[in-house]
Amino acid sequence: MNAEGKALKVDWPRCEGRGLCAELLPERILLDEWGYPVILGPVPAEEQILAREAVRACPRRALHLF
Ligand code: SF4
Repeated sequence: MNAEGKALKVDWPRCEGRGLCAELLPERILLDEWGYPVILGPVPAEEQILAREAVRACPRRALHLF
């Protein structure tokens, strides 16, 4: 992990935009007006456990943490 944290990325063709990820990680993921996730910058170390849970919970396997 670099000093700036890990990156959350959305695989857009897979994402259905229902926003479960934003419910699980509201401090890092907002929803746009259509319900698709907007990632707010890199994920710091203290949020990475929750970020991994959001990745695992995505019903479309559309969220990734690098
Ligand atoms: S949980 Fe997965 S499918 Fe749902 S909005 Fe987030 S990335 Fe998209």
